[in-house]
Amino acid sequence: PWPRPDGPATTTSTEPDEPVATTGAGPGGGGAAWPYDVVVVGSVNMDLVVRVDRRPRPGETVLGSDLATYPGGKGANQAVAAARLGGRVSMLGRVGDDAYGGLLREALERDEVDLRHLRPTAAPTGVAMISVGPEGDNSIIVSPGANARLSEQDVAESGDLLRSAPVVSLQLETPLPTVLAAARAARRVVFNLSPPAPVPDELLARCDPLVVNEHEAAMVLGVAARPHVQAEALLALGPRSVVITLGADGALVADASGITAIPSPRVEVVDTTGAGDAFTGALAWRLARGDSVAAAAAFAVRVGAATVRAAGAQSSFPTLEEVEGP
Ligand code: ATP
Repeated sequence: PWPRPDGPATTTSTEPDEPVATTGAGPGGGGAAWPYDVVVVGSVNMDLVVRVDRRPRPGETVLGSDLATYPGGKGANQAVAAARLGGRVSMLGRVGDDAYGGLLREALERDEVDLRHLRPTAAPTGVAMISVGPEGDNSIIVSPGANARLSEQDVAESGDLLRSAPVVSLQLETPLPTVLAAARAARRVVFNLSPPAPVPDELLARCDPLVVNEHEAAMVLGVAARPHVQAEALLALGPRSVVITLGADGALVADASGITAIPSPRVEVVDTTGAGDAFTGALAWRLARGDSVAAAAAFAVRVGAATVRAAGAQSSFPTLEEVEGP
């Protein structure tokens, strides 16, 4: 039932404003049938990780651990998180025509993310060079590579893709004009403002919700404050709703009806990498299935908590069965 990357396109011959008939219902079944639950527009990176005792000063060389490579990028992580839960997900992005591009494509295919709009690009695939210090602290250099070539034109050429899904999930590891163009084409925007950078009011006004962690909220607002105060202040910038993720403390949801605190399950933490992306991917999927923002966030904190219990980013994302238990 699910269109495979090399399968026939199902989104081109339909009216953009109408649900599109599909041959199979997604998990949960019922309701309007869309070809996709979530379209992710965003980054696809290879994470290159080396553990070091200390970082080199300019001109210095230090020896580190064996190199570990992990599929990453905020866009791909969100796509995998939603797809592994059972969501029907399509990814609009760019990878290079190199070995990493092939490996990242395979990783997304394993989770059945639709890749018809993952464009091969004559540029290096995006990489994140990550050194992990003795305290587990990360220093990261991102080389965007192909991600930086994802253009407004790519959004335009994707036809009805974005309007064919109830939710489009966005982040900021691809160029801002592309993100804005995608937001304009979307029915509903879930926007993780990460990495934090100034964005136009129009983009904020299209968010439902805007998703940030506390640190990103402080960067956007220009001042640190208690999460409740941050939530109110972010809502005043124009989004329909705001979600602030709070690590072990769960999340706060703010919308016109007020602020709701969503506690996270207590878990033993192994590695928090990708928790925010898993949260956002899960949130987007549940919103697509018709949940309120608060209900979707209540599900997403369980996905985030499951993610921190295992090492890595995509490798630690849970299935629906793992979230809901026996
Ligand atoms: P990261 O940058 O590590 O991907 P983030 O800073 O974007 O994460 P967090 O707020 O740290 O986002 O985590 C996202 C969600 O993951 C939280 O809302 C929570 O549900 C879950 N989570 C994160 N850390 C913990 C923890 N220590 N215990 C339980 N749940 C956690």
